[in-house]
Parts: sequence; structure tokens; C-alpha cells
Amino acid sequence: MRTPIAKVTPGLEHAKVVGFVHEIRDLGGLTFVLLRDRTGILQVTVPKKRVPPGVAEAVRSVSRESVVVVSGKIAATEKAPGGRELVPSSFEVVSRAESPLPLDVAEKVPAEIDTRLDVRFLDARRPRIAAIFEVRSAVLHEVARFLHRHEFVQITTPKIVAAATEGGTELFPIAYFEKEAFLNQSPQLYKQMMMGAGFEKVFEIGPIFRAEEHNTTRHLNEATSIDVEASFADQEDVMHLLEDLVSSCYGHVAATCADALGRGGFEPLDVPRTPFPRLPYTEAIEIAADGIEEPIGFGDDLSPAAERAIGEEMGGHYFVVDWPTAIRPYYAMPYDDDPSLCRAFDLMHPRMELSSGAQRVHDHEMLERQLVAKGLDPASFEFYLRPFRYGMPPHAGWGLGVERFVMTMLGLSNVREAVLFPRDRHRLVP
Ligand code: ATP
Ligand code: MG
Repeated sequence: MRTPIAKVTPGLEHAKVVGFVHEIRDLGGLTFVLLRDRTGILQVTVPKKRVPPGVAEAVRSVSRESVVVVSGKIAATEKAPGGRELVPSSFEVVSRAESPLPLDVAEKVPAEIDTRLDVRFLDARRPRIAAIFEVRSAVLHEVARFLHRHEFVQITTPKIVAAATEGGTELFPIAYFEKEAFLNQSPQLYKQMMMGAGFEKVFEIGPIFRAEEHNTTRHLNEATSIDVEASFADQEDVMHLLEDLVSSCYGHVAATCADALGRGGFEPLDVPRTPFPRLPYTEAIEIAADGIEEPIGFGDDLSPAAERAIGEEMGGHYFVVDWPTAIRPYYAMPYDDDPSLCRAFDLMHPRMELSSGAQRVHDHEMLERQLVAKGLDPASFEFYLRPFRYGMPPHAGWGLGVERFVMTMLGLSNVREAVLFPRDRHRLVP
């Protein structure tokens, strides 16, 4: 049985460890090999004259990042990481790494992101990168646990679809036998249809595809979305759920990923305090007007500069609520008393938008009118409109991007850091 490196203590007399060769320091009669597995780093100390001849030979010929199996005696030493070292009685190279390496795993100074993504398998061996994906896994675990606890049913809906969610040009066309089809830009229409099926509370964690040309540090062409829809709920109900979920994910990551975060050189997480402030859109554009050169008028979307100016003022997570109906999708419910505003919201991190949501239109005629008002043809949405004619509960929901959530949680500079194999304007391999 092998021992994970984090579990190797001076109290163990003997251990067998398996890992990558992180660093080799040859001091002539004495060689130090730092061995790394996903739990940590262990110093293997090789006094050439005091180890079996085969061991000295294997150590001399091994290259960095090779996979080795090492057994031997554990001793306490203040000079080595973790206060212990292993003196090998056997050292076996299981898989030899070519050199030079295309990426220096032990390098403290990070390489260019493109170089790193080209050899993501090597990049992800670095404790900092491994920590990001441990955190991402913990977030997804907590999301599912939290939503199951709140009696949501997890669903999966098609990613190959015949029509756009919102029209527009953000779709990737694909060949589907003799028909034209697309990769779905969001599960919006399907999760709403499940309200018509009486499921009451559903969620989906799955890919969304956006054929957006823009190449920014917060857009991917394939992202992962946490989508929620709930019946007999208004926008306030689902905002409440969303802020609780965000804070609960921070709490779970803080509690379960402390070791990984420490190894990756991340600061411990501060769990954001709820409830998050609710900032009406009209006030948001006033704040933006003070902070940026190009002013924002009623009916304009918040530009990245506006988002930054407002974020600076707000300091932490916040909601922008009561948006102009004209700039939200047709499925957002306008207010009765002022239909120029609707029951839509965005959850914002000071750096960027994390989630969009709304109470939805559940009235068939209103929905058809709003489709037409957006220049869309109700006939191409018939599969979606149909459930609205046979009893549709009032409902509300949101979509939260996993990569932006992890990116802002860890203070990453680029959304590509939060996905293993990003798809962007130029990147299709690996
Ligand atoms: P933005 O205006 O910032 O481009 P959006 O309003 O187009 O985002 P929505 O359609 O509201 O995005 O999607 C809901 C959430 O899904 C977003 O808040 C974001 O977290 C995530 N998301 C959407 N598009 C992308 C993308 N291209 N890359 C990464 N995440 C995305
Ligand atoms: Mg949005």
C-alpha cells in the first residue's frame, strides 16, 4: 500500500510513496529528490554511499516529472518540507518524463496562459492549479447538496436543439442528419417547460454554448451553468435562494479546501455576508454616471466600465434589480404598475456579473406579445409556448456561471483559469 505524502510523518517508520519527481538537487555525494503527489511534497534524501547501488543508479538517471515509486525509512528533519525525509531502500522509475519539459512545473513564476493551456496536463500538476479544480469540485458538490436539501430535482436537458433560446447570433450551428441544429445557449426554455410539467423546483448543472466573437477574460465559448427554476416563486424568492447558495458554497470551500488553498498559495476565504444589497437599475446607472466617462442612460446595458465603477462603490456582492423591460429577454415579467421595468435581476461581484435571473412570464398571450416585440417568430417557439396553454404555474429562476463563480471566489485574473480545457475564439485543442 502506498502512503499519501501528506500522511508521511516521522512517526511512521517505513513508507512507500508514489509521485512525480518535482525537483532534483545533486550535491555530489548527496542527492535530494523532491517527490510530489496531490497531497504535498516529500524530500527523498539519497546519500549515495549508504543506499543500495540500484537506488543510486536510478536516482542518477531519473528526470524531472517522471513517475517513481519509492520506499524507505522516514526520519525527522527540520530542514525538509513537512519536517521529515525519506531515505530510500528502493527507487523505481515507473514512467520516465522526456526532457526538456514543455512547462516547468516547479517554476514559481507563472508561464504565459497560452503556453500553460497547451500542456494543461503539466500545468495542472502545479499545486496552485490543482487547488483551483479542487475548489471547483467542492463548489459543484455543495451546489448539488444545497439544492437537494431545498428539494430541487436535478434534471438534464438537450444540448442539441432546433431553436435559439433568445434568438440572436450567439448560436453554434451543427449538422444533425438532414436537419439544421444548434448547440444550446442555455437550458432556459426547457427548465421553464418543466414548471409546466409540475416539477416545481428543478436545477441543472451543464454546459452552455455561446458563439460570441469577443475575446475577454470573462467570456468562454463553452461555459458551465448552474440553472435553477422554481414554481410559485417570485424574483425575491429565487434571489434569496441564490445568495444563500453563494454563501453556503464559500462556507463549504473554506471548510473543506483549506489545505489545497494553502498549498496553492491562496488566502483563506472570507464568507460573504447575506443578504446582499439590492440596487435598483436606475440607481446603478446614477452611480455609474459619477464614475465613468461614457455615461449610461436608462435602457442601456451596464458596460464593463460601469460594472467596475458600481462594484467599487458596492464593495461586495450585490444585486441589480428592476431592469428596463426593453433590455431583458422576452421571458422576464414586467411589473403590473410600470411595465417599462421588469422583475429581472443580476447578481454582481464587484468585478463582474455572476448570474442573471427573473420572475418569468407565465401568461401565454403576454409571452407571445413579448416574443413579437423582440422581433421573434412565435411559430419557431411553439414547443416552448405549448405548455403555457395547459396550466403554467407562476415561476422564477436564474443561471449562475460556474467559471465566473470560481474565478471571483479565488481572485483569478482570467476565466480560463477556472476551466480545464477552455474553448475560446482561438482555442479548440486540447
Ligand atoms: P455578460 O453580459 O457578462 O456577457 P450574459 O448576460 O450574456 O453575460 P447570461 O446569458 O445572463 O450572460 O448567463 C447567465 C450567467 O452565465 C452569466 O451571468 C455568467 O455567469 C454565465 N455566462 C454566460 N455567458 C458566459 C460566457 N460566455 N462565458 C462564461 N460565463 C458565461
Ligand atoms: Mg446576464
